[in-house]
Amino acid sequence: MRILSKSKLLAYRQCPKRLWLEIYRPDLREDSAATQAAFKVGHQVGEIARRLYDPKDEGALVELQKDDLQAAFSHTTELLRSSRPIFEAGFASGGAMAFADIMLPLRKQGHVSWRMVEVKSSTSVKDYYRDDTAIQAFVARGAGVPLDSIAIAHIDREWVYAGAEKYEGLLKERDLTEEAFGRQDEVKTWISESQNVVALADEPRIATGRQCGDPYECGFLEYCRSKEKQAKYPVSWLPRMQSRQLRSLIEERGVKDMGDVPDDLLKERQRRVKAHTVAGTVFFDAEGAKSSLQDYEPPAYFLDFETIYFLITHIRQPILGACMALAGFSTRRRRDEGSCLRACICG
Ligand code: SF4
Repeated sequence: MRILSKSKLLAYRQCPKRLWLEIYRPDLREDSAATQAAFKVGHQVGEIARRLYDPKDEGALVELQKDDLQAAFSHTTELLRSSRPIFEAGFASGGAMAFADIMLPLRKQGHVSWRMVEVKSSTSVKDYYRDDTAIQAFVARGAGVPLDSIAIAHIDREWVYAGAEKYEGLLKERDLTEEAFGRQDEVKTWISESQNVVALADEPRIATGRQCGDPYECGFLEYCRSKEKQAKYPVSWLPRMQSRQLRSLIEERGVKDMGDVPDDLLKERQRRVKAHTVAGTVFFDAEGAKSSLQDYEPPAYFLDFETIYFLITHIRQPILGACMALAGFSTRRRRDEGSCLRACICG
């Protein structure tokens, strides 16, 4: 039996085909720039967390050398006999393995037990973090670790960076012990179902859909799409697809082209988008624009700006920890009926 990592089990939770591709065709995976940036931020927050949870620098890091998992597990077992913080402690049990971001020793009546903290570069506790902690707890306890509790540490959105590389207060904890310990049978089922997927000779036949971006953007999207007939007018171009009927038509009945969506399931604006897209015509609400702009006279300024989302900024000013930063903007000035002047600042 193959030992599956936590990330493989989470891949299965997103889509069984994703798990199969991760195992057998990792070469097809293309992580977007946004996904790569998220990995980078996660790494940065992880480094900061180590400093915060181990201010005296007494902890030990379990480094994975040349993919030697067994050495990492043995090193962890050795470190668990000590009572110092451990980073990236590795465990394996029940057909799965996991690496804990932070393990902190607790001394109670002469016994050492452990508090596990998983660090997330997000400002809230997402549902899939709950699956994550359930897996971590299952594997660690199954490996015989006396686990006292497990928590998620995430970014506190109210935190203000005061400069000088001081990050105290950046992370906020949410204890998930009871929930994680109570889901051990579920985790067992995920492992066994994942093992069944891994045993398949061919990739599972699963069409692209909502799961491809939920909870993570799937790196196999281009590959999966390339094997499907492409819609000429994808339904994703329709605005505000919130109605349950419309969603079920797309997700359960596999309708991909907006030309195949009945008009009576669409709202007025969606019908308009569909009609003009399929007919290849342009819609411009000249009357609406005229009425909205009638109170304004030239010169008119049109401002367009872009932002970048930083979880942590290193701007040496008090600033919110999770904030938007202006990346650039451009403006156009219309002086009269015909001329338009453009200015642009990027930074
Ligand atoms: S792109 Fe979608 S269908 Fe393909 S593996 Fe990923 S989640 Fe599954």
